Amino acid sequence: MSDLATLLESWEPVIGLEVHVQLACESKAFSPSATSFGAPPNSLTDPTVLGLPGALPTFNAHALELALRLGVATGAKIRARCRFARKHYFYPDLPKGYQISQYDEPLCEEGGIELWLGGVRKKVRLQRIHLEEDAGKNLHHGTASLVDLNRAGVPLCEVVTLPDLHSAEEAAEYMRALHRLVRWLGVGEGDMEKGQLRCDANVSVRRRGEDRLGVRTELKNINSFRFVHRAIEHEIARQVRILEDGGQVERETRLWDADAGVSQPMRSKEEIADYRYFPDPDLPPLAVDGPTMRKVITTMPELPVPRLERFMREYGLPFDDAALLTDDRERADYLDEAVRAAGDGALARPIASFMLTELLRVLDGQPIAKAPVAPAALAELIALVAGEVISGKIAKDVFAKMCASGEGAQHIVDRDDLRQISDEATLRGLCEELLAAHPRQVEQYRAGKDSLLGFFVGQLMKATGGKANPALSTKLLEQLLAAT
Ligand code: ADP
Ligand code: MG
Repeated sequence: MSDLATLLESWEPVIGLEVHVQLACESKAFSPSATSFGAPPNSLTDPTVLGLPGALPTFNAHALELALRLGVATGAKIRARCRFARKHYFYPDLPKGYQISQYDEPLCEEGGIELWLGGVRKKVRLQRIHLEEDAGKNLHHGTASLVDLNRAGVPLCEVVTLPDLHSAEEAAEYMRALHRLVRWLGVGEGDMEKGQLRCDANVSVRRRGEDRLGVRTELKNINSFRFVHRAIEHEIARQVRILEDGGQVERETRLWDADAGVSQPMRSKEEIADYRYFPDPDLPPLAVDGPTMRKVITTMPELPVPRLERFMREYGLPFDDAALLTDDRERADYLDEAVRAAGDGALARPIASFMLTELLRVLDGQPIAKAPVAPAALAELIALVAGEVISGKIAKDVFAKMCASGEGAQHIVDRDDLRQISDEATLRGLCEELLAAHPRQVEQYRAGKDSLLGFFVGQLMKATGGKANPALSTKLLEQLLAAT
């Protein structure tokens, strides 16, 4: 494997991803059953889901609105009228014998998803976004196979990229960006463990400099960010080895086995299903009307990438901090709200760094919605530090008290007498007392042991319960120690 890096100097990986995104709908795409996860098997069905004769589909308008949000956010071209098509295949989890999907008239085409990779901004172009319904699930227990149709008919959209990705890292980063965007827009919850975001990866390699695409394989069933990376990397290596040995890559569908860390052929080119697509005669063409479009456009939030860049530009945050704070929309909202409450853009940086250290630490992996301190309350605390009313160190103690009691920063500082001692005369007096109490150390310092300055600052902090203004104390101690 170690020589793969060398081989990749002459071979270029080419990857296109097809990602199924479960839409955040309460009911199914074409019928009223609920979409809840984890319900008893086959409890979320109805005649349409079961494909019973005579049952007719009615499209869930909310699914359209959600898919449109993704289309608008990615700058896609949106069809004013699109159509549903039947995609036929025969599998126990598909009672109708076809899946309702879209074929030659998808809802959205083109557009792209922006992502940052190694400090460089890149746009991954999309081929299409179309609407479809999910299939059920086959469950295998020993020799018995059972079918659960709770997932059948759940509304999905499929987001298909052009073959624009060129490494496993890029593909994984694309998945993260799509996941972030889907959640940011409220289009879906994107929980990969619940299969709400599922990725099929098309992978080929070609000699660098070659324009034509190589023969691709399609990897199915990749259900975590880590597996996207591992499965693609594994497939790139497999293909390069075949080609280096003078062989040919077979056009086939392969199934990623996460436990074994390898992929196995699932079906070959000859067997690749002929889906016999045709327009679904039970469903009228889907029209995107003006009011729906207007609603989607006027409620479109500032998107993750522009927001990250604004945090860098307006708030002066370094890239990594801006990226962490735009990892989800609630975090970004928290920062904006705190800065607004502070009424001073100069406080954005200290607020951001306090969020990334202290706040994230107390949250311990929980979402920011669970923050024990509101944005305005955090702003008040940071303003006290910036105004030198309290030191940064005391701020951490005050923050802990705020988390525990819900009281405001100013209130805690006043009540517990935590104001920083910044009065020069008072501090000088304290410093003089301290030096008088430690004549030996003073002598050593003056003999050249500069490191003792830290000792004096520490002693002063101890004597004042951490309230001495650190910068001023250091300055005064230096002055007093220099004067013989
Ligand atoms: P299909 O309908 O057979 O899945 P599509 O042409 O719709 O094929 O492409 C599906 C995905 O495969 C897209 O994401 C596309 O970018 C990608 N793709 C197509 N050809 C290649 C290739 N040679 N190498 C890598 N990805 C490819
Ligand atoms: Mg495909």
